[in-house]
Amino acid sequence: MKRALITGVTGQDGAYLSQLLLGQGYEVYGLLRRSASADVIDGRLRWLGIAGQIRMLDGDILDLSSVLRILREVKPDEVYNLGAQSFVKTSWTQPILTGQVTALGVGIMLEAVRIEVPDARFYQASSSEMYGLIQEPRQSETTPFYPRSPYAVAKLYGHWMTVNYRESFGLHASSGILFNHESPLRGIEFVTRKVTDGAARIKLGLAQTLPMGNLDATRDWGHARDYVRAMHLMLQQEVADDYVVATGRTTSIRDMCALAFRHVGLDYEDYVTIDPAFLRPAEVEVLLGNPTKAQTKLGWKPEITLEEMIAEMVEADLARHRERTA
Ligand code: NDP
Ligand code: GDP
Repeated sequence: MKRALITGVTGQDGAYLSQLLLGQGYEVYGLLRRSASADVIDGRLRWLGIAGQIRMLDGDILDLSSVLRILREVKPDEVYNLGAQSFVKTSWTQPILTGQVTALGVGIMLEAVRIEVPDARFYQASSSEMYGLIQEPRQSETTPFYPRSPYAVAKLYGHWMTVNYRESFGLHASSGILFNHESPLRGIEFVTRKVTDGAARIKLGLAQTLPMGNLDATRDWGHARDYVRAMHLMLQQEVADDYVVATGRTTSIRDMCALAFRHVGLDYEDYVTIDPAFLRPAEVEVLLGNPTKAQTKLGWKPEITLEEMIAEMVEADLARHRERTA
C-alpha cells in the first residue's frame, strides 16, 4: 500500500486529492497546522465524506523540525506540497508572511525530504500566476515568467527550488504549473466562489447586490477534481518534470458572472456593482494555458466544462444557504 503525505490537506485541492488517493488504496497522511477552530478546520474533508480516513499529524511547513519528524514517522512514497498562503489579494497586505509560507515553506519541505526521505516523489503546487504580465499569448512550460504579486513572486521561488533540488540532488521533484481551478470547495474569497455564492444569496433574497472588482480580466478555469488527477499522474512518471495544467480556454470574469446568474434565472447586470476595494495594485489581465505537454506525456485531459462547474457550484451554494436558513 502506497503512503502519501499532503500539506494543505484542509484546503480545496488537499480535499480532492485525498479523495482521489484514498480511492486508489493509498494511506493518506495530512500535515495539519494547529488551529483554534479545530472543530471546523476539516469542513472540506467532511463535505466529501472522507474526514475520518485521513491520518492527521500536527505540523507546520514553517517548522522544519515538525516536518522532519512527520517524514521520519510516515516514510511517505509521495509528498504533495499544497500548503500555502494562496490568496493573491492577501499577498499585498501580508507580503512577508506570504514569502515565508508560500516561498520559504517550499524550501523547508524540500530540505526535509532531501534529509529524511530522498527517494520519495515530491509535488510542488506552482501557479499560472507566475506568468503574470504574460509574455506569450498561450503560456506553456517554456514561457518566461513575469510575476505581478507578492504571491506570484513567492511561487516562483518554490518553482525554481523544486527544479533546483531535482537538478542538484536528483530528487524526484515535479512542479505542476496549474491554472486556476475551482469547485464547490473553493475558498469564498476567490472570484468564482464569490460569484456563485452571491448569485445563490441574491436568488434566495439574502442579499441585494454583489460588489466586485475588475470584470475584464480573463482566466483559464478548470475543475479541481480534474486538476488533482494531473498532480497524481506527475508523480507516477519515471522521470520528474514540470507541467502546465490548464483547459486552453479563457473566459472573462464578466462572462463567468453572466453564467452563474443565468443559472438561477437572473441577469448579473442588475446585481453586480463595482467596488474599488476589490481592485488590485497590479493586475493579471489574461491567463490562457497550453496543456499540450500534460496531454501528450501524462495522458491528462480535463473532463468538466466551465458551464458544468459553475452550475455545480451555484447548486452547492443554494443548498448551503437553504440549509442555514431552514
Ligand atoms: P487553499 O487556500 O484552499 O488551501 C491552502 C492550504 O494550505 C490549507 O490547507 C491551509 O491550511 C494550508 N496552509 C497554509 N499555511 C500553512 C502552513 N504554514 N503550514 C501548513 N499548511 C498551511 O488552496 P488550494 O487548495 O486552492 O490550492 C492548493 C495549492 O495550489 C496552494 O499552494 C495554491 O497556492 C496552489 N495553487 C492553487 C490554484 C487554484 O486555482 N486553486 C492554482 C495554482 C496553484 P488551513 O486550512 O489551516 O488554512
Ligand atoms: P487569482 O487569479 O489567483 O487572483 O484568483 P481570484 O479568483 O482571486 O481572481 C481572479 C480574477 O478575478 C482577478 O483578475 C481578480 O482581479 C478578478 N476579480 C474581479 N472581482 C473580484 C472579486 O471581487 N474578488 C476576487 N477574488 N477577484 C476578483
